[in-house]
Parts: sequence; C-alpha cells; structure tokens
Amino acid sequence: MVKKNILDYSYEELIEEFKKINLQKFRVDQVLDWIFKKHVFDFYEMTNLSKEMRKQLDDYFYIYIPEPVDIQRSKKDKTTKFLWKLEDGRTIESVLLFYPNRVSACISSQVGCALKCKFCSTGASGFERDLSTGEIIAQVLAIEKLENVNINNIVLMGMGEPLLNYDNVIKAIRNWNNKKMKNLGARHITISTAGIADKIEELADFELDIRLSISLHAVSNYQRDQIMPINSKYPIEQVLQAAKVYQQKTKNRVTIEYIAIKGFNDTEEDAIKLAEILKGLKVMVNIIPVNPNPAGFERPSKKFLTNFVKKLKENGIEATLRIEKGTDIDAACGQLKMRKKGINLK
Ligand code: SF4
Repeated sequence: MVKKNILDYSYEELIEEFKKINLQKFRVDQVLDWIFKKHVFDFYEMTNLSKEMRKQLDDYFYIYIPEPVDIQRSKKDKTTKFLWKLEDGRTIESVLLFYPNRVSACISSQVGCALKCKFCSTGASGFERDLSTGEIIAQVLAIEKLENVNINNIVLMGMGEPLLNYDNVIKAIRNWNNKKMKNLGARHITISTAGIADKIEELADFELDIRLSISLHAVSNYQRDQIMPINSKYPIEQVLQAAKVYQQKTKNRVTIEYIAIKGFNDTEEDAIKLAEILKGLKVMVNIIPVNPNPAGFERPSKKFLTNFVKKLKENGIEATLRIEKGTDIDAACGQLKMRKKGINLK
C-alpha cells in the first residue's frame, strides 16, 4: 500500500481517513497535537497511543518534513533563510524573520515560478511544479522544530505565485487556521500575488479573513510590461478592479508592493501617478528597494526612496519604506537557490 502524507489532509478528511483504519476522531486530535504543538514527526514517538495504533498509523501514513540543504543566518537581525530538499530532489526556499511584535515565515507555494518577473531570481529559474498542501505546511513545521520558535505570522511570498496553486494554498491556510492544527488567526496569514485578477476576485469570497498583498511595481502598463510579463494577461486596470471587488467584499485594506528601481520607476512623477491610479482603494504601499537580481537593476538612492514615500503621502496614500531584513544573506526570493546553482547575482 502506498503511504499517504498526513499533512495533505484537512481536519475533516483526516477524520474519514482514520475511520478507515478504525481510529476514532479523538485520535486525530491526539496525532495533530503531536505534530503541530509538539513537533513530533514520528508516529512511534506518540506515546499516548498504543504501540499497535502507532504501527497502524505508520503503515498507513507518513509525515513529510523537508530536509535543509543550506541555512544562512543574518548576523545583523537573525533573519534565517532555508533551502529545503523535497522528496523528488527539487529545492525550495523559506525565510524566518523576527520583528518586535511577531515571528514571521515567508513560505514558498511552488517550485520555481512561471511568471518570470525580471527583477526576481526565482522567475529566472523557471517553473518546475506546484507544491502540495503538505509541502506548504511542512515548511512552517520544519522551521519551528529546527529553530525552536513559534511562528505567529505567515506570508506566502516565497517562491511561486500562490494564486496559481490556489486549491493547495487555500487548503494549507485552512489547516494553519484550524484550532486542532496550527490554530493561527487568519489575519496573521497573507497571500502575496503578482495580480492574478480572476483569482483575487475568487479570494474575495474565501470565508477566512486573511490579508492580501498585490505586487504592482509600476504606474503604467508600458512600464509594468517591461518587468512583469504577466501584465499582458492581467493589465494594471484589471488588477486594480479586482482589488476593488476584493475590498468591497472583505472591507480589508490591501497592501500594494512596489519594488523601486533606479531610473525606471522611482521619480516624483511616478509617485504622483501611483497615488492617482490607487485612488478609491484603501491601501498601504510598501516601497521596496530592488534586491540583487539577474537583470542587474539597481536600487534608487535613499534620498529618492524617501522622497517617493513623501510624495505618496502628500497625495493621500499611506506608504512606508520596507524595513530590510537579512541584507547580509541571500534573503530575497530565489537568491539562495541561484547561488547554490553557481549563478552569481549582481
Ligand atoms: S516575483 Fe513572485 S511572481 Fe514574480 S517571478 Fe518571482 S516568484 Fe514569480
């Protein structure tokens, strides 16, 4: 019999699976408590189950946790980046970040990414496959166990476009939120998307009150086309219209991510135009100086960045310059994997 990864199942599905091997619902709760609260990933160590039950579970299921193949730790701010090896030998990244009020994990949703954003190392390496629900969830469990931390904030902003792996991502979020599993409040979970407009509208009907972040990075289609090929399918107007629908239904503020690139999208005029196109939406704009990238884009000076934020605020838009973390390690998406492959970034 082929064993099943227990982390791929929802709580309700697990109750049904356990029934098939004559185990009652409270046994599901016990096993989930071992996995999510105690970080025990071997059925034989679950000591409140009889030896017979442990064997039964081990015959039927396995608990898939990836192995770290590289870990980089920032000496400046404790940011830690993990490169994980999956069962099929492919690799993905996650990042652990410490803030005064939260311990956050940036999690991957796909192996590689098909969207090929020009400023992104993951985009340059291409798409390999979707992650399963279990593989998404296991990144958090692996970090918590390795680092002995309780992650209380999750951002799906690692490798991949989460809305293109919609079902597995949504299931992972439901499981993180489930009281018997991670029991993490939905508002502490953020999906970050490059702007898959139809899926943003679908997400507006999701029953959990998660947070949404949209990567805009440009103020016109002409500009966005040059750095985000997905703009030809979902142009700016369509993305912002979807954000409006999302906001009307959820009443939540949306975060707009804006990667600032020297000489490309960092002028005062860009800031004013950005404020203009965002009118009518309740947003917080995060300005992020571009990270080392395969295209060789450079960061604007601090003066330009500060001025950009100032102009947005003057034009009625809440904005902030993203506090950078892990600048002494390859903390940005796809960097560590690229370096492991021997590809140097500017
Ligand atoms: S920035 Fe995000 S959506 Fe764009 S290529 Fe990289 S991983 Fe994909």
